[in-house]
Amino acid sequence: MYDLRFWTRRPAPSVPIAGRGNQKSRPVAAQPLASHDMVRLVLFDIDGTLVHTGGAGIRAFAKTFETEFNARDGVEKIQFAGRTDIALVREFLGVHRIPATPENFQRFFERYVFWLDQTVAAADGGRCRGVTEFLDGLRALPQPPTLGLLTGNIRLGAEIKLRRYGLWEPFATGAFADDHEERDQIAAAALARGRRLLGQDLEPQEIVVVGDTPYDIRCGKFIGARVLAVATGGATLEGLKKHSPDWAVEDLTCLSAEEILPPTD
Ligand SMILES: [Mg+2]
Repeated sequence: MYDLRFWTRRPAPSVPIAGRGNQKSRPVAAQPLASHDMVRLVLFDIDGTLVHTGGAGIRAFAKTFETEFNARDGVEKIQFAGRTDIALVREFLGVHRIPATPENFQRFFERYVFWLDQTVAAADGGRCRGVTEFLDGLRALPQPPTLGLLTGNIRLGAEIKLRRYGLWEPFATGAFADDHEERDQIAAAALARGRRLLGQDLEPQEIVVVGDTPYDIRCGKFIGARVLAVATGGATLEGLKKHSPDWAVEDLTCLSAEEILPPTD
C-alpha cells in the first residue's frame, strides 16, 4: 500500500528559519549573494527542470481517473505545470464531484503509480537541456553542494520519472507532495530535512532552488533560499523574470555551476 499522509490539509509545520527572528512562516526576499556565502544544498524541481516525460504524467493521471473513477474528461482543462500532485487530484475530484476523501486519494495514488510506471517507460522524453553538464559541474566543484529534490510529485512518482532517465541516484535528500499539498510547505519540509542531513546551522541563503515555474520561484523565496529559474518547462524566460528569481536562464547550458557557487577563498 502506498503510504500517503496528506489526506487532510495539515497545519503548516513550524520550521525555524535561522537569522530571521520570529518570521517563521512569512515569505522572505532573497538577500544579495555575498562572496563569502556558501551554497551547501541545491534543490531541483523535476518536470520541466530536470526531465521532460513527454506528457507521461498527464497520461497517467487521465488513465487513473478513467479506470478507477470512470471520469474521462477534464484533464485537458487542468494546469499541471508547477502544481502538486495532491492539489491536482483534489481539483480533478472536484470537477467530477467525487468526494476528496482519504480513501479516494489512496485509491487514486495506488493506481496512478501503476500507470505512471507504464506511461513513463513508453515515453520518449529525456533530460532537459544542460542538466547533465550542470550536475557534473556541481559535483566537480572543490566543495560540492548536496543535491536534493523539491517537487510537487509524490515521492514514488518522482522516483519513477527520474529512474527512467538515470537521474534518481544523484539526490541525497528531497521533499515531495507526500510532505504537503502546498508547494511552499514542501519547500519548508526540504529545508527541515536539509538541516537534519547537513546540520541545524544550514542557512536558507545557503540553498539554491532550481525550477521552471513561478511556483518554484515563490516557494524558494518562501524559505529564504536563492532561486535559479530555467525556461525549459512551464514558463517563458520573460515570464519567469517577472517573479524576480536570483538567476533566470533559457536552459542550464547558459550558466555554469561556478556562477551560482562563487569561490569561497
Ligand atoms: Mg516543473
